[in-house]
Amino acid sequence: MEPEHDRSLPTYDPGLGRQIAEVPVAKSVDDAVNSAAAAFEKWASLPVYDRLQYLVRLKILFEQRLDELARLIAQNVGKTVSEAHGELRRALEAIDMALATPHLMADVKKVMNVARTEPEIDMETVKEPLGVFAVITPFNFPVMIPMWFIPLAVTLGDTVVLKPSELDPIPALYLAGLFAEAGYPPGVVNVVLGDGSTAEQLIKHKDVVGVAFVGSTRVGSQVYALAASHGKRALVGAGAKNPVVVMPDAPMEQTVENVATGFFVMAGQRCLAPGNLILVGDAYRKFKEPLVERVKRIRVGYQLLDGTDMGPLVSAAARRRVMEMVERAVAQGAKPLLDGRSFQPPRGYEEGFYLGATVLDSVAIDMEIAQEEVFGPVLPIIYAEDFEEALELANATRYGNAASIFTTSGKYAREFARRVNAGNIGINMSIAQPTPHFPFGGRKQSFFGVLHAQVDAVDFFTDRKVIMQRWW
Ligand code: NAD
Repeated sequence: MEPEHDRSLPTYDPGLGRQIAEVPVAKSVDDAVNSAAAAFEKWASLPVYDRLQYLVRLKILFEQRLDELARLIAQNVGKTVSEAHGELRRALEAIDMALATPHLMADVKKVMNVARTEPEIDMETVKEPLGVFAVITPFNFPVMIPMWFIPLAVTLGDTVVLKPSELDPIPALYLAGLFAEAGYPPGVVNVVLGDGSTAEQLIKHKDVVGVAFVGSTRVGSQVYALAASHGKRALVGAGAKNPVVVMPDAPMEQTVENVATGFFVMAGQRCLAPGNLILVGDAYRKFKEPLVERVKRIRVGYQLLDGTDMGPLVSAAARRRVMEMVERAVAQGAKPLLDGRSFQPPRGYEEGFYLGATVLDSVAIDMEIAQEEVFGPVLPIIYAEDFEEALELANATRYGNAASIFTTSGKYAREFARRVNAGNIGINMSIAQPTPHFPFGGRKQSFFGVLHAQVDAVDFFTDRKVIMQRWW
């Protein structure tokens, strides 16, 4: 028999820097798409309450396995166990939202007696599932992001093929096992392993009707173009550079705690991670030192150990990339107040992909470190003279995922929320993550498409059909 893959990629425990498995790169996605296509018709014709029962069983299993799943995520991604539990809480909320599917589908519009000349005609719209969807996901939330899409898509009646990140596919495979254990019929939820070439095959496949993608702006923009060139619908969540503005009147204790920890959650590897800290006027003098002191207390270490606040980066390549960005920033004039490049991992973890927390002062908005997503534990500080300049700096990158302000002034908070060009706005919180009953916003090059993730995706995974009827 011919092997189903002709090459494989290593996957690691990033805290040990040690390979823990091999990821086969699928030669062809045909089997997965064919099985999803074959399952679609029967699955879509089940009553929605029947499809819902599978999700109820999945939720029970998911809750029973939280600890195991959290440790798998932590081990394969490098985030701490407590951060992994946070990811799973969000995944459970996504299930809760999808449990409302009968209600979400019942958004039916009907107008009776619409035709002037023929008074007995009625018209209505209904939502219908469309077929097989590709779900292509990034490394940083290997369970939550697939769960933004899969429970909703399949409960609406679609079938899916998931292509998780090649960097850490182990939690996604475990998740697929839970779907099988919950009794989902074969073909409803499928997984293919592989890299970008596998993902491209999926998008191009004639039986795939659309793609839900989350990842970097570089890849996301290609996915959007590829999907469009094949006449497919695409929902593309992409990269970020989220500004955090601190006004001089911001409350000291809460602001320092929230900003200092926000920048370094998951070692900065999240699309909602703050990207630039903009200190306004007197806030620059007041907040800089307390912030650095708080950041110094972040304990970096092996992600599976109690007491670790921040684990390693996901890969050796990611660590190298972030170090090089810091190096270039320093060459351009940024001043390290804390330099994580010199971090020494404890004995036994020397091979891990660690980087200490880094704080850079005197950053200018036109530097690469202020313009580009770092996706690492780096806090660049930019000075702004006043609110207007801060707003200008906050809007001065090509991204628009999130933006936050810390202030006690309702006037500034309101003005910021109105004028900053980003999809998720935080007032007095450095990470503004909407719950699944709200759309996950994103503007500029942080998002491509029309319908966003979470509840907005109901309309992405269905199409409206207009039914006109007349009875004699
Ligand atoms: P990535 O873009 O490198 O990879 C994402 C996925 O795309 C992976 O499954 C990968 O295999 C696949 N891929 C690679 N090349 C491809 C190609 N040519 N065509 C199709 N698919 C391809 O991203 P990553 O490094 O895994 O994740 C980090 C990025 O994701 C960051 O930029 C982060 O901001 C972003 N992100 C965005 C959101 C959001 O909601 N906006 C959420 C989480 C992460």
